[in-house]
Amino acid sequence: MDCPSCGQHNPDDKRICWKCQGEIPPPPPPPKPSRTYLGLPVWGWVVFAAMFIGSFLVSQCNQANLLGG
Ligand SMILES: [Zn+2]
Repeated sequence: MDCPSCGQHNPDDKRICWKCQGEIPPPPPPPKPSRTYLGLPVWGWVVFAAMFIGSFLVSQCNQANLLGG
């Protein structure tokens, strides 16, 4: 972690710069890993599957209506 005051590099666990005695803010927490599958979040695939199944059922109903009259 570089010192924000003087830019001196300090070890990550240091909270006080060894050069200028300035306070070093703690490093930001790592970004929360989001559960993704093939680039899409899991809920995206769920929505995609729901739309696909929904359109499939609608087409089945339309065919039944056409055939059954
Ligand atoms: Zn410093």
